[in-house]
Amino acid sequence: MKSRFSGYASPVPDILDSLTNQPIYRDDIYDRPPLGREWGRGRVTLIGDAAHPVQPNIGQGGCMAIEDAFELVKQLSKSTKEDFVPSLLRQFESSRCDRVARVYSTARQVGQLGQAEGAIACFIRNWIYKLTPTKLADKQFKWLFDYVPNWDTAT
Ligand SMILES: Cc1cc2nc3c(=O)[nH]c(=O)nc-3n(C[C@H](O)[C@H](O)[C@H](O)COP(=O)(O)OP(=O)(O)OC[C@H]3O[C@@H](n4cnc5c(N)ncnc54)[C@H](O)[C@@H]3O)c2cc1C
Repeated sequence: MKSRFSGYASPVPDILDSLTNQPIYRDDIYDRPPLGREWGRGRVTLIGDAAHPVQPNIGQGGCMAIEDAFELVKQLSKSTKEDFVPSLLRQFESSRCDRVARVYSTARQVGQLGQAEGAIACFIRNWIYKLTPTKLADKQFKWLFDYVPNWDTAT
């Protein structure tokens, strides 16, 4: 581990140094294709990783879970009538599915690029990252970071 990560920026090498004689836990990371437009049935829905687990390559899984929670409450607050709950849940799922599907595929693409193997592929990838202006990179993710929780549309 130490030799593999020796060229990493601080504090990665320091953290590894401080782990002398400590066991290091390693686990694999899995994602799953999005469930589509419906994530539940009747009065049951899913949110967060249960509905759309993504690879943590763009650090968005937890963010999507928090957005889900907000959007779910927003939908449910539209009516106090119990009979409306199933249709409000389907509306919630439908309002979220395109966005989380896009996050899923973006996270996969970034992962594929980041985990590219082979000297040529890594060389090209590193140059693309280096030469891409920050403004352009930010623009690519505008759709993601422009999300604004809007309570006004709840009523
Ligand atoms: C290495 C790594 C780095 C990440 N980095 C980021 C990041 O930078 N930014 C970001 O936004 N996201 C990140 N994520 C993703 C984020 O951690 C998850 O998307 C988020 O935790 C999902 O929240 P959740 O509430 O849906 O599920 P979870 O956090 O998995 O919560 C589910 C909970 O349910 C409990 N549970 C399971 N089964 C049962 C049961 N039968 N009964 C009772 N309880 C049960 C579990 O113990 C768990 O506590 C990262 C993930 C990983 C693995």
